[in-house]
Amino acid sequence: MKYMILQGLVAAALAVAFTRHFDGDKAFRVKPQDEGQVELVKYLSSMVQLDFWRPDSAHTIVPQTDVDFRVEADQIKTIQTLLEQNGMQYEILFQNVQEGIEKQFDGKPNSSNRRYSYSKYNKWEKIVAWTANIAAKYPKLVSRIQIGTTTEERPMYLLKVGKQRSAKNAIFIDCGIHAREWISPAFCQWFVKEATKTYGKDKLMTKLLNSLTFYILPVLNIDGYVWTWTADRMWRKNRSNSSNTNCIGTDLNRNFDVQWCSIGSSNKACSEVYCGPAAESEKETKAVANFIRNNIQSIKAYLSFHSYSQMLLYPYSYTYELAPTHEELNDVAKAAVGALSSLYRTNYTYGPAASTIYPTSGSSADWAYDKGIKYSFTFELRDRGKYGFLLPEYLIKSTCKETMLAVKNISSYILRYVS
Ligand SMILES: [Zn+2]
Repeated sequence: MKYMILQGLVAAALAVAFTRHFDGDKAFRVKPQDEGQVELVKYLSSMVQLDFWRPDSAHTIVPQTDVDFRVEADQIKTIQTLLEQNGMQYEILFQNVQEGIEKQFDGKPNSSNRRYSYSKYNKWEKIVAWTANIAAKYPKLVSRIQIGTTTEERPMYLLKVGKQRSAKNAIFIDCGIHAREWISPAFCQWFVKEATKTYGKDKLMTKLLNSLTFYILPVLNIDGYVWTWTADRMWRKNRSNSSNTNCIGTDLNRNFDVQWCSIGSSNKACSEVYCGPAAESEKETKAVANFIRNNIQSIKAYLSFHSYSQMLLYPYSYTYELAPTHEELNDVAKAAVGALSSLYRTNYTYGPAASTIYPTSGSSADWAYDKGIKYSFTFELRDRGKYGFLLPEYLIKSTCKETMLAVKNISSYILRYVS
């Protein structure tokens, strides 16, 4: 017995030892006023390793737009001096990133340990068990499908939610393509909870589930998500070593086969926006693309969930040119954002991705759109930088509740369009 306890303690100590800490790291916000200041930030990022939070790489920094980044503790003095010497104002979003990481777990523990908590962040082991449990609990409404395996051989499960046995009209929803954006998987779980709990009670939800099929992928980048829990909370990419270098991970939202590895992505393996060695080189991308291709007749809408920025985006990301159905997409986005903000007045912006947030290539939403899925949207959930990726658990419920209104709004539009 003693030995077992000791073994447990050693394992716990090792786990802690291997977990990356962010003590003393700060998150900065700057707003370059002109091209000169944009160049300065790019120069800083070439001198010191900056972890860009928004935009997601130095490539896409433009004047008059906020740039948020994390600086490691021992580099803070250098960065502050250089910013000050060049007359560039800055704001500090996090005085201590590690503190922010610890503070996000502020959700109330469940009164009953057996109940699944939707207002806490859940580890992958819990989520995967939940996918099985919820399918078993609601067999007439939910089924679980495996669409592939990840780099580290974890099964990728999709939940099929709806009353139709074979899907005629479907909406594909994925969460967690970027590992550190934890509010995103929390939303996918919330969606399934709401669907199962309110079917037969809520008029609109009942109507939607009677006629539409929702394919929900709760966590797309599972290996990366696991890594954010066990080793590095700020991890973004997947965990493959497809570049055969020391740098691990491909940005899965740069790996889809659409204008692959051109604008807003990098062919350097160490980059946070590394596009991978080829389009669809990653098992996770391949699994999603194959599933969508195999069901292309029925999938009418594609919704992808990210954080943070409070935006609802539609194609294109890879060009500033307007999509052929721009007007309609803009109308749908406007109505969805209106529905979302009706609850707590949360302010969302919307528009074509390239000009509203920044240009990227190889994104899932552009790929789906060019495959013929006319209604393709990307959500950037809360917030606008106060907490960034470290949104506290106490905000999960309100974030998910307002987002549900937008998703239901888009879904009822799809239903009107297909019927
Ligand atoms: Zn993202």
